[in-house]
Amino acid sequence: MRLDVITIFPEYLDPLRHALLGKAIEQGRLEVGVHDLRQWATDAHKSVDDSPFGGGPGMVMKPEVWGPALDSVAARESAANLESALPHLNRPRHDELEGVEAQAYAVDATADEDSDLPLLIVPTPTGKPFSQADARAWSNEEHIVFACGRYEGIDQRVVDDAARRYRVREVSIGDYVLIGGEVATLVIAEAVVRLIPGVLGNKRSHEEDSFSDGLLEGPSYTKPREWRGLAVPDVLTSGNHGLVDTWRREQALLRTWQRRPELLEAAELDKDDKAFIAQLEKEANTQGEG
Ligand code: SAM
Repeated sequence: MRLDVITIFPEYLDPLRHALLGKAIEQGRLEVGVHDLRQWATDAHKSVDDSPFGGGPGMVMKPEVWGPALDSVAARESAANLESALPHLNRPRHDELEGVEAQAYAVDATADEDSDLPLLIVPTPTGKPFSQADARAWSNEEHIVFACGRYEGIDQRVVDDAARRYRVREVSIGDYVLIGGEVATLVIAEAVVRLIPGVLGNKRSHEEDSFSDGLLEGPSYTKPREWRGLAVPDVLTSGNHGLVDTWRREQALLRTWQRRPELLEAAELDKDDKAFIAQLEKEANTQGEG
């Protein structure tokens, strides 16, 4: 996969060279290009913004700068590749498993789209909420470009025009407003790259993550068995894998029911899951009455 990021703060994207992403770069599974938008600015001050038509506060990013930047990056004319920050290649993580096969997720392309076009992700609070399903689908992409807005955002014609050479997604990472698109890009890039087949050595790591089966993951514990008077649940040290699996499933259901009950409506629940939820609801009702 190749990721290109266009930004006025290239140094903000340095985390893309570290840890798992740095390792993916080193393994040749990922290339990352970070491009300073100002190189496409043509005036003496290298300005990238101007006042909004119709008045109002703030500045809007200029189409004459963004248009050529997106043309050039779509055509892969501008390299600017990041080097991995750490030499990881010969140091497998402790949880990596020998012989784990890389397995791709289903591809997300609507029927009328030309999937040969690169994917352009435009982070914006007005976009469609980013989800684990998007991360999974985009982990199959060959070329993803991120356009990082600042100020009041990018002139809308840039997004409309880009649809001629990209598949465009305007995406929000949550119902709050950041200063710029760089942090949103880091969030999305990290969620996508860890799902590229082969990037996580142990495939089970993400198959059991929150949202993969529509539920939140339950709590995790490590050594020591007792810490500050708090003990690890007995079942986890019982050596009985069947009981551990049942306990983990129930903890996932319990946490989802407590924190994100709306997820339960879309999750695939079997007879035992439904009985467990019904029991939780019964107990809650009894406590409410008492
Ligand atoms: N005026 C815009 C609005 O009200 O929708 C907010 C612009 S914000 C100050 C500047 C930039 O930060 C946006 O262009 C976008 O790139 C990024 N940004 C801010 N919040 C975001 C969010 N929740 N998700 C994704 N990107 C966001």
